[in-house]
Amino acid sequence: MWNGKNKALTFSYDDGVLQDARLIKLFNKYGLKATFNLNSGRLGFIESIRSGGAQVDHSVVRAENVRELYSGHEIAAHTVTHPMLPSLSEDGIVSEIKEDCSKLASLCGYDIVGMAYPGGGVNHDARVIQTIRNRIPNIRYARTITSTYSFDLPKDLLELDPTVYHMELDRMEELAQAFLKLEPEKPQLFYIWGHAYELDAAADDAFWLRIERIFSSLAGRDDIFYGTNREVLLDMPGPKQ
Ligand SMILES: [Zn+2]
Repeated sequence: MWNGKNKALTFSYDDGVLQDARLIKLFNKYGLKATFNLNSGRLGFIESIRSGGAQVDHSVVRAENVRELYSGHEIAAHTVTHPMLPSLSEDGIVSEIKEDCSKLASLCGYDIVGMAYPGGGVNHDARVIQTIRNRIPNIRYARTITSTYSFDLPKDLLELDPTVYHMELDRMEELAQAFLKLEPEKPQLFYIWGHAYELDAAADDAFWLRIERIFSSLAGRDDIFYGTNREVLLDMPGPKQ
């Protein structure tokens, strides 16, 4: 696993927004790997939303650009239409996820093996998890939005809590420094998630510049495995889905 290394770093970004292109340039510049969770029913939507006190573009990548834009990284599911899954029937949950997987697979040319739960707040519950476990076996991991601030490996990949949300910039920076210093006896995972559009919310590219500094500090280390979610999570010791 992890090419014999005990530390792994992975990223997870949601909604398939146009700002993913800028983020991918940074990931590629620093040799980092990420997973992008897309809503197949929203591809090509044009809109803007409030984020961090600013109005930012929330337009979504067009279907015909998906394969090329995300090549070298991983595409995962985020449901077709971005509903709150706990409010749906079991069949509704299954069709939102399964249909997203099959549409995304046809765009990117490989099977989808993971997802991020859409929406904030209570975006998953025991019934949603059980439905995925019983009826959508191709989904091997599903990410929440609950920061653990920990590098310990997740216990249940269908309730995969990330280490930190990227807009918790101070916390992310502290965690990055701690992760770089670690010389662990057991495998440790640094898992960062966010939305690329949130980085547009500060003047003078302040968020973009700050996150690039953190990326560059984490890059190029011999003792860290840089992988997509699939590469990091499905090649991990301990409990598997
Ligand atoms: Zn989302």
